[in-house]
Amino acid sequence: MAEQTIETTDISNHDGHLDHQVVIIGAGVAGIYQIKRLADLGVRATVIDANPDLGGTWYNNRYPGARFDSESYTYSYSFSKELLDEWHWSELFSPQPETLKYLNHVTDKFELRKYMQFGCRVESMVFDEEDAIWTLRLDDGREITTRFVITGVGVLSIPTLPNFEGMADFSGVSFHAANWPHEPIDLTGKRVAVVGTGATAIQLIPEVAKVAAQLTVFQRRANWAAPLNNAPISDSDMAVIRERYDEIFAACERSPGGFEHEPDRRGFYEVSPEQRLELWDKLYDEPGFGIWLQNFTEIFMDEKANAEFSDYIADRIRGRVDDPELAERLIPKDHGFGIQRVPLETGYFETYNRDNVELVDSADTPIARITPEGIETSDASFEVDVIVYATGFDAFTGAFDHIDVQGVGGTRLRDKWAEGPVTYLGTFVRGFPNFLMLVGPQTAASNFPRGAELSVDWVTPFLEHMWSHGHHRFDVDETAEAEWLEHVQEMYKGLLLRNAKSWFTGYNSNLEGHEYGKMRYNIYNGGGPRFAKMLSEVADNNYEGVHFQ
Ligand code: NAP
Repeated sequence: MAEQTIETTDISNHDGHLDHQVVIIGAGVAGIYQIKRLADLGVRATVIDANPDLGGTWYNNRYPGARFDSESYTYSYSFSKELLDEWHWSELFSPQPETLKYLNHVTDKFELRKYMQFGCRVESMVFDEEDAIWTLRLDDGREITTRFVITGVGVLSIPTLPNFEGMADFSGVSFHAANWPHEPIDLTGKRVAVVGTGATAIQLIPEVAKVAAQLTVFQRRANWAAPLNNAPISDSDMAVIRERYDEIFAACERSPGGFEHEPDRRGFYEVSPEQRLELWDKLYDEPGFGIWLQNFTEIFMDEKANAEFSDYIADRIRGRVDDPELAERLIPKDHGFGIQRVPLETGYFETYNRDNVELVDSADTPIARITPEGIETSDASFEVDVIVYATGFDAFTGAFDHIDVQGVGGTRLRDKWAEGPVTYLGTFVRGFPNFLMLVGPQTAASNFPRGAELSVDWVTPFLEHMWSHGHHRFDVDETAEAEWLEHVQEMYKGLLLRNAKSWFTGYNSNLEGHEYGKMRYNIYNGGGPRFAKMLSEVADNNYEGVHFQ
């Protein structure tokens, strides 16, 4: 590390022997903003990332159709008016190449690249109790010492593959969708298999179907989805958006998910069935997550309300798929709408009307093995040239588990979190001093940049507080952490999503310990405003629950 000189003022002279005052792991949406704030303060800090370049999720996920489901303008960083005034999002929901370009633009505009180091995969992080410093060891043997570590490792950054017999013997090309080859792969005229029907698959299936000779989709469980209703943003639209930015960010701050969409506060049972239908017809045709987040709150809590709305969406699917038997197979029967993360789609259901697309139920006829020629299920063989595994991620804790993090007394973070994350405010972990997480597990993280800015804008003054008081070390109170976990658990109660087979509850059939029923409290369900209020109260109370030395 020594060869890289970073020209900032060392704000803390007695720490001059350390490589850095702060190391941020991850040069994605959160890490970029965090280094901006620390660079502005003149802190000797660096961002390290395992990838060859910045962007995190948007660097990795390059599959056809990849785009976010947040309105582009709510995905903007809000910290710079100049940035907001100069950036033109070209579509309501920006595609991956444009988002990556945006993150590069921000980094270059604020001259942040000089603080970033790539190809740095952290293998272990050990806390030295005597000196209160972290030593990070990289996979190439280099070591970095720092007083503080801040993680910006994302929530869905470790792809998970199935363990099918014979996967390595496949003679064609196969990869996880999150590792889509950087050299564009031409699928024209190819026979392609997609395993999975989550948000990733639902975006890529319509795109692949347009060019492939044959597309076979292996669906284990059908997934609810609703139209994205994307559209271009003209110059005049963008001018209006720029005028509205303050209003937009204020609305995001007020809403539970960090979007402009706010729940319909009329009671589900207080309006007539016709009025409910009127709302749903309107939302189905509108862009974005309105259909999920502007709906009646009872949809998330009340089986009967949820069933009525799910029936509505099922009818919409029936209206879009020509073959009634196929439509039924695309309608989830095991869970209601919105209790898993709802994928937004563009022509997903119509894709199944194409002659070159086949749906295989891998629940009824499970994938038995991968052969050199393709996929064998319990009752048929499918010869294919390409297999895309859109099989999900080791959500929230996966990126941490991939680093051997050792805190006080050599305690390993992966052991502490073996049965699910335990944090204080999704930001601290007791026994892991001087360690801070941006949008960690158990934070309110729906619209990612909104959660990331909240995190960074809280962590930065926290560090300033430490420095201004001459503190070298912080850790968290046992009771504060226990009470936070209790509160996080409480927030799952009464929500239908607590029974979901989804990464919201830590389910992942490809990971040991993540079986259905082994609940992991991954997210904070109390909503963004409540989470922000709690953060601010803790800060106002002299960082209640945190011990300083
Ligand atoms: P996912 O939602 O976890 O879906 C994984 C899919 O693979 C599921 O259909 C799952 O079936 C199937 N699967 C997994 N292992 C399997 C196996 N061994 N055999 C057969 N099928 C298997 O993953 P994802 O689609 O990558 O999405 C994850 C999250 O990333 C999303 O919820 C979203 O938050 C984010 N994302 C966002 C966007 C966006 O903003 N537009 C786009 C993509 C992803 P089961 O349902 O039966 O488990």
